[in-house]
Parts: sequence; C-alpha cells; structure tokens
Amino acid sequence: MPEAREWLMQWLRDAHAMEEQAETMLAGQLIRLENYPELRQRIQQHLEETKIQASRLKTCLDRAGEGTSAMKDTGAKLMAFAQSVSGVFAGDEVMKGSLASYTFEHMEIASYTILIAAAEAAGETDIARACEENLREEVAMADWLKKNLGPTTTMFLTRAEIDSDSAKR
Ligand code: MG
Ligand code: FE
Repeated sequence: MPEAREWLMQWLRDAHAMEEQAETMLAGQLIRLENYPELRQRIQQHLEETKIQASRLKTCLDRAGEGTSAMKDTGAKLMAFAQSVSGVFAGDEVMKGSLASYTFEHMEIASYTILIAAAEAAGETDIARACEENLREEVAMADWLKKNLGPTTTMFLTRAEIDSDSAKR
C-alpha cells in the first residue's frame, strides 16, 4: 500500500512538529509557573517525556529514510511561543495554561490514534509500537490534568482573593 505509507510518513512528520511545539509550550509554562508546585512537577516530567517522544518519532522517520520538516517545525515553535506568552497580561496565566495543556494533550491523543491505525494499515509495526508508547504518556498526562483542573481553579481563586499576583502563576 504505497499510498498508505506516504500518508503515514506525512502524519509522522506532522506529529514530530507537534512534539516540538509541545516542548516549546511546556518549557514556556515551566519558566513562569511559580506557585503551583505539583503542576510544575508534572509539567517538568511531561517535558522530559515529550523530548523522548520527539526522538522516538525522529527514529521512525530516519529509519524510513524520511527527514523532518524543518520549516514547519520552526513555524510551529513560533506559534507555540506566542501561545505560551498569551495569558501573561490577562492575570490568569495558570488557568489559560491549564486550558491550553488539556486541549493540546487531546490533539496529541487524536494524532497518535490516527497514526497507530495508519501504521497498522501500512504494516509498519515498529511505528505503531512507537506511537502507542507516546499515546500512553499523552493519555496519562491528559488524565492528570483533568483531575487537577478543579483543584487548580480552587487554588487560583483562593489565592486571587489574597494576592492576585501570586495566584496567576
Ligand atoms: Mg507529546
Ligand atoms: Fe503531551
């Protein structure tokens, strides 16, 4: 199925760009998060996972003799940077960040679910395996974020009452 393989490679490159975007986004949040240690720690952990996810995809692309798309990656990084800066002046950075992170994880979950099906259709079991590993980490991160949306909100509101500056990040 040459057509299926071509789409698979295209989507793999897209996923690699997505992980580079994730890395920029998570690193940007980490720099500014000060008063939410648990969130900070989980983001730190996921940042490390994200770097490994990107290299897993890079290995798949290298083995297939395909490169990553450098221009697209740069564009994605710039977009992620712009995103990670938004909310800075809104006074609710931690909430905007939580919203963006939860949304982003679900885009990743959808991407890997698609990639796994495409890899299986193309008979690329190693690629399917790599995407399953990445998917597991995205699901775990999404679950953690979901559990923490409520507590983070409560903490934000409680702190905002006392000191709006420490509440926002
Ligand atoms: Mg990821
Ligand atoms: Fe992720």
